[in-house]
Amino acid sequence: MKTKTQKNLAPRLGLRWQSAAASPLLRCGATCPKRRGASLPAAVQGATAFALLLLTILSPAAFAAERGGDTLRVLFLGDRGHHKPADRFAQLQPALTPRNIEFTYTEAMTNLNTAYLAQFDCLMIYANTTRISPEQEKAMLDFVAAGGGLAPIHCASYCFLNSSNYIELVGAQFRRHGTGTFKETIVKADHPVMTGLSAIESWDETYVHHRHNTNRIVLAERRDDSGPEPWTWVREHGKGRVFYTAWGHDQRTWSNAGFHALLENGVRWVAANSPNQLKRQN
Ligand SMILES: [Zn+2]
Repeated sequence: MKTKTQKNLAPRLGLRWQSAAASPLLRCGATCPKRRGASLPAAVQGATAFALLLLTILSPAAFAAERGGDTLRVLFLGDRGHHKPADRFAQLQPALTPRNIEFTYTEAMTNLNTAYLAQFDCLMIYANTTRISPEQEKAMLDFVAAGGGLAPIHCASYCFLNSSNYIELVGAQFRRHGTGTFKETIVKADHPVMTGLSAIESWDETYVHHRHNTNRIVLAERRDDSGPEPWTWVREHGKGRVFYTAWGHDQRTWSNAGFHALLENGVRWVAANSPNQLKRQN
């Protein structure tokens, strides 16, 4: 939330708020007549610059604006399973909310319906829910096909075991794992999801997948004596996009700043064609 003072200052300072919650006044851009302080006295310009600096430092929204990001709405689907999604959500939300990503946490599979999903730009899944109803599967597939983003994380590649459509949508299914500390190998550094990222090193489960859908782009691999294992990838489904990473068993990876950055990039990339997002940009 921006303070009243920030809201009042923004148009005068020419800030280009990116927040969807912002009023049109706060979307002051190139055409805004108040954009520049060139006609203001020097002292006022100095004060303006100082206030702008303060605002940029203090305001999460301004920080996001600097990064060029619009507010995204993400539905985080967890469960009460051994991965403790609510605890992991509690680690992620404070890291990404200041970056203009609004999260809603749910464990209710009944929320996988068309009307509810329509409120979001991205569905993130971190759960071990074994079954999905035909109606819920259709709502999810339709959501993505229409441009919504899907971000299954770690164990989400072992969700909805009754749905071959879901496994195909994710891009593979979890098969087995060991454990250890390892470093991924980025294989497609020029993809937007990997922009500005360094290879993550963390303790985690050494996922091995099967039922690979080759219609995807692998961005990072986990390499060991058995060879390269696809680790993070993206794919497309209709107008929508999917981002998956096998990272994320417990608090060690979920507290990793590189993991937060990866999830932020992944969410932004998959949400790019969201009908909500496009509507707000118009
Ligand atoms: Zn795990």
